[in-house]
Amino acid sequence: QAKAAGKNMIKFFDVAMQVKASERTRLESELREAIKRQQLQLYFQGLHDGQGKLLGAEVLLRWFHPELGTVSPAVFIPIAEESGLIFEIGSWVIEQACRQLAIWTESKQALQLKLSVNISARQFHQENFLPQVIQTLERYGVARNRLQFELTESILVSRVDEVVAKMNLLKNYGVAFALDDFGTGYSSLSYLKRLPLEQLKIDRSFVDDILNDPNDAAIASTVIALSEALGLGVIAEGVETAAQRDALAALGCYHYQGFYFSRPLPGQDFVAMQQQAQLH
Ligand code: C2E
Ligand code: MG
Ligand code: MG
Ligand code: MG
Repeated sequence: QAKAAGKNMIKFFDVAMQVKASERTRLESELREAIKRQQLQLYFQGLHDGQGKLLGAEVLLRWFHPELGTVSPAVFIPIAEESGLIFEIGSWVIEQACRQLAIWTESKQALQLKLSVNISARQFHQENFLPQVIQTLERYGVARNRLQFELTESILVSRVDEVVAKMNLLKNYGVAFALDDFGTGYSSLSYLKRLPLEQLKIDRSFVDDILNDPNDAAIASTVIALSEALGLGVIAEGVETAAQRDALAALGCYHYQGFYFSRPLPGQDFVAMQQQAQLH
């Protein structure tokens, strides 16, 4: 357990160190203002079946900085997590996702789609996370089953009993869970079976080279078998070509997310894409 936590810290610092300390301090103070300045925006990327049909969408945050341009969430989410800003940003994302669902439902657009929202471990551990989620869903009158949360294996590094209990409460309430970036973390299989999950998401790093690297194909195949054995769904991330989709299908994975199917888009463009697809 301690060893796993140590490894995770190293991983975290690797990402964080890519941004120089001075720039980090600057980004942190600017990130603090980003919500107020309306520089943050939700993008939506489709989750698809083999025929390309939309099954739902993942919510991906974007930060449009006036000088730096688009700052990747891979850069600013770690900063938000470390500084505690993730609490405010995370609840804002959930709120905006619910708002979008309410608008789509009302206008009969993007009907019945489920939105999948990334939740950082620190955010999930927050004491008032559960009441906050419930209040937001109710305030916007959003059906509970329209929301899914994506957690990573880092959620399993500590306070596992608490995590399982909280997940069960939310699941009973109607919110689904996926385990994101699966295979890149350090979760033990004994924890995995205790989690009330809907699906595993095969990390992009195993999909990238699935055609050429037999080890990646073996790992993907193992995750697919594991999800089947545990009665879970499975979806592959980062599918960029038809050949990758076919390789995944041959291994038994029939749900996909990736540039081959659709790119992350702002809400209006996402709806336009969906309407376009329905015409064909
Ligand atoms: P993630 O949750 O694993 O999201 C999938 C990432 O893969 C996204 O990167 C998406 O744009 C990218 N992607 C999807 N398909 C392809 C593909 O075919 N090829 C390639 N090369 N990339 C693809 P993005 O949007 O840059 O987000 C990076 C990470 O930042 C996310 O990884 C997630 O961990 C985190 N993140 C994004 N939004 C939020 C948020 O609202 N809250 C939290 N806590 N984390 C977020
Ligand atoms: Mg995700
Ligand atoms: Mg992922
Ligand atoms: Mg990923």
